[in-house]
Amino acid sequence: MKIVVLKFGGTSVGNIDRIKKVAKIIASYKRKKLNVIVVSSAMSGTTNDLIRKTEELSNNFDSAEYDVLLSSGEQAACALIAGRLKHLGLKARSWMSWQLPIITEGPYSASRISKINKTKILTFMKTGGIPIITGFQGINLDSRITTLGRGGTDASAIMLAKFFNADACDIYTDVDGVYTTDPRNHSKAKKISKISYDEMLEMASLGAKVMQPTSVQDAKLNNINFSVKSSFEKKRGTLITGTKKIFSNQIITGITSTKNDAKVTIVGVKDKPGVAAAVFKPLSLNQINVDMVVQNISLNGKETDLTFTIKSEDLKKTEKIIKKNKRISFRKFSYDNNVSKVSIVGVGMITTPGITYRMFQALASKKINIMVISTSEIKISVLISNKQIKKAVAALHKEFKLD
Ligand code: ADP
Ligand code: ASP
Ligand code: MG
Repeated sequence: MKIVVLKFGGTSVGNIDRIKKVAKIIASYKRKKLNVIVVSSAMSGTTNDLIRKTEELSNNFDSAEYDVLLSSGEQAACALIAGRLKHLGLKARSWMSWQLPIITEGPYSASRISKINKTKILTFMKTGGIPIITGFQGINLDSRITTLGRGGTDASAIMLAKFFNADACDIYTDVDGVYTTDPRNHSKAKKISKISYDEMLEMASLGAKVMQPTSVQDAKLNNINFSVKSSFEKKRGTLITGTKKIFSNQIITGITSTKNDAKVTIVGVKDKPGVAAAVFKPLSLNQINVDMVVQNISLNGKETDLTFTIKSEDLKKTEKIIKKNKRISFRKFSYDNNVSKVSIVGVGMITTPGITYRMFQALASKKINIMVISTSEIKISVLISNKQIKKAVAALHKEFKLD
């Protein structure tokens, strides 16, 4: 039996008209005699509203209850889709992830799907039914509800495609594919017809919100090809697949930028072994993700400055942890809350020399100051003032002939 997984994101189910449109899309697959598994996010805004409520009640809301609460948005969206499909005369029903169940591992709010029990869904599909499953969630081995991190319905879709051995996985969203940069921020962005898992993973991790990074990693690990498409207009989307299927002479595939980064500098730390570990260990124990790191070469061999970036929401906690860390001594803790990371991504840079120079030159020509640099085989990231993001993205988009 040919199975297709269809994922609908928050804006795609954002109001009653949108849900009617989604039901039509689902019906069109059914007319092609395909077995459809639908997975939906909550209506847009719902998850944010729920988070706001927890913040009003506690600055340390219980993590298990947080996930129970956040998972509720998807329940409503799935019931609405199933109800509309039934109205159209189709056989459909909603399933909360715990009813299958979808089993997850890992901490609350950042769990990952480890297993999906398929029995109920397969039985229902054999009778022509369309299952509508809540995205973004599962249950853990204590039978408590868990969630998969923001944007986690993407991961639900990929893992449903894996466990049901689906023939296709279509991610329906509010843009008609993956673009060379966020099309909402740069009008010259171009749609990419095919992109490799590695490039998509870098772009997603470096700020392209269109796919949740974990979901791309799951797709890569399990070799699940998937497409990103628009639920608003019927257009060809973007295929995300293994490198072998992609032929492109573009050196750079995409440009991304992040929001809400902060740069921290600890001035005058001792320049001796173990200091960096002593700084970062308590941060990692507190789930603070450290991103870019630079340690200046010390001039006198005794003291140096350590600079790193974190999410700005972690800044207060980081300052507190560093200041009460008895294992380090330093002269000053300084920070800049108005920074962003701009990155260029592309497998083409592995074989093309001079990309770093071209990136720096393009930024310099627009008088954009680079604060921190980090690179991997297929990406170069720079930290700049967040006031200059738009200008930087436009300059790089042009420099690498993506306009
Ligand atoms: P959904 O609710 O469907 O999961 P998201 O809001 O999570 O949708 O992701 C879609 C958004 O991703 C788009 O509206 C777009 O602004 C943003 N985006 C960022 N970078 C890119 C990119 N390179 N290509 C396409 N969309 C992007
Ligand atoms: N509703 C969840 C969120 O807003 C999951 C998702 O949209 O994929 O993060
Ligand atoms: Mg999303």
